[in-house]
Amino acid sequence: MDHFNYQNGELYAENLPLAEIAKEVGTPFYCYSTATLERHFNVFSKAFDGANALVCYAVKANSNLAVIKTLAKLGAGADVVSEGELRRALEAGIPANKIVFSGVGKKPHEMELALNAGILQFNVESEPEVRVLSEVATRLGKVAPIAFRVNPDVDAKTHAKISTGKAENKFGVPWQDVSRIYGEAATLPGIKIQGVDVHIGSQLTDLDPFNNAFMRVRELVDQLRKEGHEITQVDLGGGLGIPYDGTIPPAPENYGQVALQAMGNLGVQLIFEPGRLIVGNAGVLVSEVIYVKQGAERKFVILDAAMNDLIRPAMYDGYHHIDTIRQPNEADGTEMVDVVGPVCETGDTFAKGRELPPVSAGDLVAFRSAGAYGAVMASTYNTRPLVPEVLVNGDDFAVIRERPALEELLKQDKLPEWL
Ligand SMILES: *Cc1c(COP(=O)(O)O)cnc(C)c1O
Repeated sequence: MDHFNYQNGELYAENLPLAEIAKEVGTPFYCYSTATLERHFNVFSKAFDGANALVCYAVKANSNLAVIKTLAKLGAGADVVSEGELRRALEAGIPANKIVFSGVGKKPHEMELALNAGILQFNVESEPEVRVLSEVATRLGKVAPIAFRVNPDVDAKTHAKISTGKAENKFGVPWQDVSRIYGEAATLPGIKIQGVDVHIGSQLTDLDPFNNAFMRVRELVDQLRKEGHEITQVDLGGGLGIPYDGTIPPAPENYGQVALQAMGNLGVQLIFEPGRLIVGNAGVLVSEVIYVKQGAERKFVILDAAMNDLIRPAMYDGYHHIDTIRQPNEADGTEMVDVVGPVCETGDTFAKGRELPPVSAGDLVAFRSAGAYGAVMASTYNTRPLVPEVLVNGDDFAVIRERPALEELLKQDKLPEWL
């Protein structure tokens, strides 16, 4: 459920026609809906009503300050994976004691910032990392609250590039070493073991892998407690999928039941790290048709958005539904086209053989479900400036990131003195 709907023959974001926003900010641009962000956060949180649960929004899915702040106002915590994201979360008003720090490659200066801020938990992914964290914490006279991210070796049955919980993946500590690693970490100065963390992948559309992973974690908590560790936090990660192509993933309510059943009465604080689920369907990418070109074998719709603006199709074979901004007439029918961008790569293809209502140059289209892993993954490839982001709230909208001038982009390059 989102708040991008046809009204009066054109696509709206909440109460505003996307075409009007396009007139003001130009295309391409990302547009997010406050009501949809709020709805998704609230539906997810409700799945854990009455339980001791903290929802830490995975900032990497969409790290715009205005998006984070919208969620912060609803009580969200944050899952961050870099110093930059930690700064964003703090700046957006998320209290440090609701922030968890994930990622396989944390550097000492990042640990230092997190320790000084007083975050809830470091999700540690290796033995070398916990040793460095121990050194940094000791030097600062602090104690780092940690969970190890464990690799449960379950198949998330999602795209290979977003699967993280198999033994072959780089994430987490190997299952067979968990007991020894907790034992050794317990002896390190400046380290306080408090939890267990797991995150098996993204865009999961089946509850079984979650159930398998959560049951393993449950057994692990019992075992670690027997071995003398105090476990007060269990972080079950993110990864619940969203509908991109008509496949309907499990409802948050059912996901919640699986999590709560597996964790039962462990008496811990449960932490969840949803990203895509919160922001994915709360955003669209609006783009203009530049040309319609008849190739030898197929028709190409060439847009002013490209793979540098939305890389999911090129990187993960990601599917995005494409709507015309003008509401199509049944009488118009559809035609089969390839939808491409202007970048000089064959990979700059958003959709192949897609049935779209007929479009012509100057028409606007919207990529649906583009709120997660869209703007955050954008680059300036082909010297294309990052596109602006807009947040709609009822009848209002605001530009929450401006389109940089090309001059700014060029100014970043420096000529050496010999040129
Ligand atoms: C990416 C990531 C998430 C969020 O995943 P979604 O599929 O967007 O919910 C949560 N936790 C960790 C550790 C991640 O790397």
